[in-house]
Amino acid sequence: MSSGTLTIDLEALVANWRALDSRSSAQVETAAVVKADGYGLGATQVARALARAGARRFFVAIAEEGAAIRQALGPGPEINVFSGHMPGDTEMIHDLQLVPMINSIDQMLRHVEALPGAPFGVQLDTGMNRLGMEPNEWAALQDIAVQQRPTLIMSHMACADAPDHPMNAHQLRMFNEMTAGLNVPRSLAATGGILMGPEYHFELTRPGIGLYGGLPFAEARPVAHLSIPVIQSRWISAGETVGYGNTWTAQQDTRIATIAAGYADGIMRLLGPWLSLYAAGGVPCPVRGRISMDLIGVDITHLPEEPAALEVLGMNQGVDDLAGLIDTIGYEILTSLGGRYARRLHGA
Ligand SMILES: *Cc1c(COP(=O)(O)O)cnc(C)c1O
Repeated sequence: MSSGTLTIDLEALVANWRALDSRSSAQVETAAVVKADGYGLGATQVARALARAGARRFFVAIAEEGAAIRQALGPGPEINVFSGHMPGDTEMIHDLQLVPMINSIDQMLRHVEALPGAPFGVQLDTGMNRLGMEPNEWAALQDIAVQQRPTLIMSHMACADAPDHPMNAHQLRMFNEMTAGLNVPRSLAATGGILMGPEYHFELTRPGIGLYGGLPFAEARPVAHLSIPVIQSRWISAGETVGYGNTWTAQQDTRIATIAAGYADGIMRLLGPWLSLYAAGGVPCPVRGRISMDLIGVDITHLPEEPAALEVLGMNQGVDDLAGLIDTIGYEILTSLGGRYARRLHGA
């Protein structure tokens, strides 16, 4: 087998969910965001592990994802859809008992006309200008919507990864103003908001990235472990080059291992000049030359013997270490991992 092995540590996932749950009081429910295939790690397994651990509400981006989660979990857990009720979603919402987070007056009309009496939540925009009803829209709709007893009123924060950013207090104030006295369960906090403290928690929190081991939850346990087998290795002499475009030239005799993954597997081409993989014992081995679609050259000159595999993600290097090399975020590293790895589950 030459594919890499992506091990999903479900024990760490569940521990992260519990750790985030314990950041809010016992009255606050902790949901789980499993959109984008559980941040690339496999929504079915992730949702099942979290449901076994006690999670009762899940959030996805689009109705199709909700359908997959319903199939994984069966009846019971509540599955909420951030994009609300879009044209063409009605059947799925009805048959798979999804709860759309209604984002506009148009969506509200579509929902009550197509599925009168069916549950829904409301998403408000408190300044991010991405999804949800604006204050004036909400003012017009609020009385009618609240009469129909929404399951939840939620909003999302733009700067929760920067606790000192003035936007956080601004959005909190907006959310409190727009929901005062409504007596409907409320949710504002994702991972970052949970860490900012109790005034952001309301009745329900919605962590995503922290479950999967990413910042801003610095204490998270890593969940994704990625190891790539070495296909072959060779000695090259000073003056020889490695990979497309001859971008790297050996200065001395060098042993190069060729490993079985590349940018098609989410190891982005831009990482090339900065990335090291890790051999047993935590010995770093720098990438040499350009990252190809399916292959990467790695310098193993300093290793005592050819390794069977090298680690990309694990105890030596996490998703945010990789992200930091190319000015992106752990979320993007995780959701880029791709479908070619052999996936293994650990624990739970
Ligand atoms: C993705 C998302 C979340 C989860 O955010 P994290 O930063 O991953 O915890 C919560 N709410 C909404 C609306 C989202 O889009």
